[in-house]
Amino acid sequence: MSKKIKPELWIYYSWTYDQSIHTWQGKKWKKEYEKAGRAYREELSNAFVKVAGKTFDLIAKHSTFSWKKPCYEAFVVRECMPFNHPLTISRCWVGSSKKFPISEGVETIIHELIHIIEQENDEKIRWNKTKIIGKRLPEIARYHLLTFAIEWLVLVDIFGEKVARQYMHSYSHMKDYRQAIKLVQKYGAKNIIKDLVKK
Ligand SMILES: [Zn+2]
Repeated sequence: MSKKIKPELWIYYSWTYDQSIHTWQGKKWKKEYEKAGRAYREELSNAFVKVAGKTFDLIAKHSTFSWKKPCYEAFVVRECMPFNHPLTISRCWVGSSKKFPISEGVETIIHELIHIIEQENDEKIRWNKTKIIGKRLPEIARYHLLTFAIEWLVLVDIFGEKVARQYMHSYSHMKDYRQAIKLVQKYGAKNIIKDLVKK
């Protein structure tokens, strides 16, 4: 039997990456962003390291997938919608210079890591066939159904149900996310996972 990988997450700040992300979005990058980027990286790393072991273990447990790499990388930038490859976290709210709370940054990392394990195990997921739901969902909702089912279980195990609910609520301003979360609540996270993941 192959040995189970217990990965680590290394979080970086790179001003060249930060600058490029700004340029791609048609935004101007300033040299002064570098210092704040490094400070946010430090703070986020210190916060995430406290839950890193649990996060990787619980994502693997609830998804039933296994991690493929011993080390994953994440990058902090000043401002962009977070995404998973390369795992990119914004230190400001999108469209604002207001700091994105570190606790939300940790939740965002958890969310994006779930997307990563899904991509690594793509062949085991029935993306288009939800037996229990039975109707076709918009792409973002469909793509996030499994993500939120796994995330709900992981967040409850790490932070408890009250905090998990608050995190889930933070997605409610986006219609398709809200639809996926409602379906997870209606049918149950474990049932959704059973439905979408091949044995
Ligand atoms: Zn997502």
